[in-house]
Amino acid sequence: MFNNLSEKLDKALHVLKGHGSITEVNVAETLKEVRRALLDADVNFKIAKEFTNTVKEKALGQDVLTTLQPGQLMVKLVKDELTELMGGDAEGLNLSGNPSVILMSGLQGSGKTTFSGKLANYLKNKKTKKPLLVACDVYRPAAVDQLHVVGDQIKVDVYSDKGNTDPVAIAKAGIAHAKANGHNVVIIDTAGRLAIDEAMMKEISNIHAAIQPQETLFVVDAMTGQDAVNTAKAFNDVLNFDGVILTKLDGDTRGGAAISIKSVVNKPIKFIGTGEKMEAIDVFYPSRMADRILGMGDVISLVERAQEQFDEEEARKLQKKIAKNQFGFDDFLTQIQQIKKMGNMKDLMGMIPGAGKMMKDIDIDDDAFKGIEAIIHSMTPLERTNPSVINANRKKRIGKGSGTSVQEVNQLLKQFDQMSKMMKMMQGGKGKAMMQAMKN
Ligand code: GDP
Repeated sequence: MFNNLSEKLDKALHVLKGHGSITEVNVAETLKEVRRALLDADVNFKIAKEFTNTVKEKALGQDVLTTLQPGQLMVKLVKDELTELMGGDAEGLNLSGNPSVILMSGLQGSGKTTFSGKLANYLKNKKTKKPLLVACDVYRPAAVDQLHVVGDQIKVDVYSDKGNTDPVAIAKAGIAHAKANGHNVVIIDTAGRLAIDEAMMKEISNIHAAIQPQETLFVVDAMTGQDAVNTAKAFNDVLNFDGVILTKLDGDTRGGAAISIKSVVNKPIKFIGTGEKMEAIDVFYPSRMADRILGMGDVISLVERAQEQFDEEEARKLQKKIAKNQFGFDDFLTQIQQIKKMGNMKDLMGMIPGAGKMMKDIDIDDDAFKGIEAIIHSMTPLERTNPSVINANRKKRIGKGSGTSVQEVNQLLKQFDQMSKMMKMMQGGKGKAMMQAMKN
């Protein structure tokens, strides 16, 4: 995410390191580079200029802060300003209605249907919400089918009425269906066109007027840069929407849309999409995003993602198994599946401070666990629960079955053995001692 921008800002801010104090000359040099980095990331010219002017004013007014290194001070100022530009505090959804109605808007291909599913899944996992998805695209039957596929996948009901050509009627019927069936959130997926046109704007504004949603969200593909900002403006003029959803931030996005959109439409970015999977959704926190842009990682989001996948009951069972020395390859496989649900590896690495920069040229396979999973799948149940029975013959068979080699099987067995020992140690009171040793 934002690799190029992060790299350039890092370089720009490096200029100041090594200077004893902040002077007008080195601030100007640095800010010129910062501005160039923002423009390269497709940030609107006016916004980039205002940004650097504000940072400059603040920097020159801060000579009292002599204890801080100038480089660090500039990083802090840039971070604060980036956060401010992207929205300050995170803003949640208004779910006060019963049912609460959420209307999705945006161009075709922006990721509306995918995001509708992700949001339904996200709310469903909050336990108190029972969402209903409503398919209002009357032009593309395939879009309705797509929403049904998504609904089946996340086990959320979908309301549709194929053949009905009136999206307002479908939306209203969908809300009535929700009321009758105890759904407390209704997510309405609407039709999009390839470009903004009057008919589409009229249609979405008719739906909006008829159902008066609590939340109108505008979905936009972050890869489209300045275009994203222009489209947002056009939709906002008609709908006065409540929030923006930036999708496809997992791709090679330059970052301009994320940085400029808030100040152009004065509406917060509420969520981001970071992949095609249903779990690839994150609440948008401006300050955490600023950290990521500046290569400082985002450990808080990483921990939250882990917690979302964390099932207390399962964790207790696992703890017991470890204590009794019964942790086997099946449990290992479950752990891998949970990690995979957290997102793709490169994205996760980017959340660890400094790791994103280190890993930028390393190609991490999206499915980094493929080989390991294949090896475990080639083991018999006995081998999985009791790896000590795996002798040379068995290793040969497992290597062949999984399309790997005896060497790779050996490597996994060794890693597994080390991991089991470590887990055992963490369980017994040695955990604390180990953490202390790691700190020293
Ligand atoms: P719609 O026409 O607005 O409903 O868009 P879709 O939901 O059908 O999405 C269009 C394409 O973008 C599909 O191939 C999705 O899988 C993909 N997509 C949606 N959101 C994301 C995302 O956050 N990351 C990535 N990489 N792809 C996404």
